[in-house]
Amino acid sequence: MMGNSGSVEQRIDELVRLLNRYQKEYYQDSSPSVSDVHYDALMDELLALETSHPELKRDDSPSVRVGSDLSSSFPEVAHTAPMLSLDKVYESEGIVQWMMRHRKNGWNDLSYTIEEKIDGVSLVLYYRDGLLEKAVTRGNGYIGNDVTPNARTIRSIPLSIPDGMTLAVRGEVFISKKAFSALNSEIETPYANARNLASGSLRRLRSSETARIPLAMYVYDAYAPEGSLPAQTHTQMLEYLMRAGFPVNPSLAVVGRSAGEYPPFARKVTLEELPLYLDQLYRKRQSLEHEIDGMVIKVNEMAFREAIGYTNHHPKWALAYKFDSPQGVSVLEGIDVQVGRTGRVTPVARIRPVRVAGSTISNITLHNQEYISLLELAVGDTVAISKRGDVIPAVEKVIDKNEEGMATYRMPSSCPSCASTLVLRGAHTFCENPMCPHQVVGRIKFFVGRNQMDIESFGPETVQYLFDKGLIRDIQDLYTVDYRQLIGCEGFGEKKVAQLEKSIEASKERDFSTVLLSLGLPELGKKGVQLLTENGIRDIDTLLDIIDRKDRSRLLQIKGFGERSVSLLFDALNEPRMRALIADLRSAGLQFAVREDSVETHSHLFEGQTWVITGSFEHYSPRSLAQKELEIRGAKVTSAVTGSTTHLLAGEKAGSKRSKAEQLGIQIVSESEFLALLEEDTST
Ligand code: NAD
Repeated sequence: MMGNSGSVEQRIDELVRLLNRYQKEYYQDSSPSVSDVHYDALMDELLALETSHPELKRDDSPSVRVGSDLSSSFPEVAHTAPMLSLDKVYESEGIVQWMMRHRKNGWNDLSYTIEEKIDGVSLVLYYRDGLLEKAVTRGNGYIGNDVTPNARTIRSIPLSIPDGMTLAVRGEVFISKKAFSALNSEIETPYANARNLASGSLRRLRSSETARIPLAMYVYDAYAPEGSLPAQTHTQMLEYLMRAGFPVNPSLAVVGRSAGEYPPFARKVTLEELPLYLDQLYRKRQSLEHEIDGMVIKVNEMAFREAIGYTNHHPKWALAYKFDSPQGVSVLEGIDVQVGRTGRVTPVARIRPVRVAGSTISNITLHNQEYISLLELAVGDTVAISKRGDVIPAVEKVIDKNEEGMATYRMPSSCPSCASTLVLRGAHTFCENPMCPHQVVGRIKFFVGRNQMDIESFGPETVQYLFDKGLIRDIQDLYTVDYRQLIGCEGFGEKKVAQLEKSIEASKERDFSTVLLSLGLPELGKKGVQLLTENGIRDIDTLLDIIDRKDRSRLLQIKGFGERSVSLLFDALNEPRMRALIADLRSAGLQFAVREDSVETHSHLFEGQTWVITGSFEHYSPRSLAQKELEIRGAKVTSAVTGSTTHLLAGEKAGSKRSKAEQLGIQIVSESEFLALLEEDTST
């Protein structure tokens, strides 16, 4: 939200600078540094500012021209008709509104085609008298680069066409997922992204290098001297192109008029079915043979295209429906106040579910009162939602105030869980009652959680249930409660109870570092714990002795510990509650010292590798045990398969991560292969 036109001008300048840089990286260098969703969010912001401040719109704005991929390394060729971009929407309502605008203008009986928007790079093939004369990139839309020798290496492009036709054919060059993963499996450093590889390969200076990349093409448009194209509609044109030997994507739907003249492969969709159809395609996209980033909707009757017209940026007779919206619009239905394990009270927005950048969002943290006040946010308001850095959902601004007269939300003055008076520390609100039920449950959930003690079968619901029943009042009770009294309670049979007992027993073997981490000491994460043990603090007595002697300098001399983190650690370990917890867990048999038998030196077998673990394992239950084996041998373990993943450890029932890894050509290691690797490692 900008306060005055000075800052708007600065923001426009900054957006223009950033977008120009990202366009160069994407179109010319084939090496974007930000995601498409991020780019689209900045472009949408620029468009919004230009609409509200037309006087500040710059003539050279990237919003009014097509992003250019022109390069000085290739000859330049003028296009016979401009190659424009596409206007875009993110919601099916946007498509319906666009169609309704045509009706308003008197174009009543139009039908529309729906094609896949393949995520590749566009190319125009110019045929003269039946022969391929030139293949030209989009360039700046008016002038492109001649890359004919490279295009000739793409086997599906016909070098000649029937009837000596003179024709300009447009299409998208891409690499299928299968070809991409096969290519990656043969090379040492896999390519991260098929679109960027397709774009880069089309502009290699040596066509022998292009030939090595399995490029494919689907064509979707044709321009011929007036009257010579035997097609009145887009679907007839696609059929013609197919007959002429061009590769045409068979995925096609037609909305409108039910005349039976469409190609047999075209699916008919009514306007009412459109949202459902788009949703189906969205869900199906992972299983397609190629990457798509949306759908393209076009007016089917070619005669109307010229009448409907163009802007400098896009034709008005076509529209892109993009799957991944960088922003969503929703309504704030309420604000819940959550009390975390540290007592911090966080307001969380409950919004009507909306899809943003590929996932559905219904809850968003609002951080604190300051954030809410700045947004002037009230229940019932219509709000814009984004995902910051493509990951973290955020309420960006209020678009429309509620009509019920609801005022800006105020945080409660007392804790919603234990009713004690809340206090403000810095920008955040805290409940200072350590026995506050929400805090206690939060602490227990943290302790048993996957990244801490990882106590199997102790999910958050089980914790809540045991707490509500009064069986567990804090962490230490986990080790003293008689679980057998649960038998017969809803969801607790003999088997489940035996499993709980077994997991609790097994957790006593977790090493000191894990136990220390799971206590939930403020700001003491995995790294901090590692620093302590590496610096000779290898048991709880040493640590408590430092605290008792007030020997702050002992901790401050560890690189990575500052004044603040040391103070927090001192305060927390001085609390009687924490001392009691440590004493109780110790007498329950948990590990409070690094076991000397674990000092064994491990090799650097997996140094520099990034692993992802998926599926279930016979020897590694919970899976964090496998993670540990990897980490002590130098691997980095992450949760998502990406271009930087080097190995996937795949157990039984490995699902989508396995298929993604296959696509990306990532090395897949089974449990038995992994065990063999470790065996070999320890025997050397
Ligand atoms: P666009 O999204 O406006 O779509 C137009 C292009 O879609 C055409 O040129 C064509 O190549 C392609 N297309 C695929 N299938 C088609 C079909 N069936 N019919 C018609 N066209 C089809 O593309 P644009 O103008 O090249 O670029 C804008 C988009 O590119 C942005 O929205 C963003 O996603 C991406 N981009 C990303 C970065 C980045 O840094 N990540 C930078 C610039 C652009």
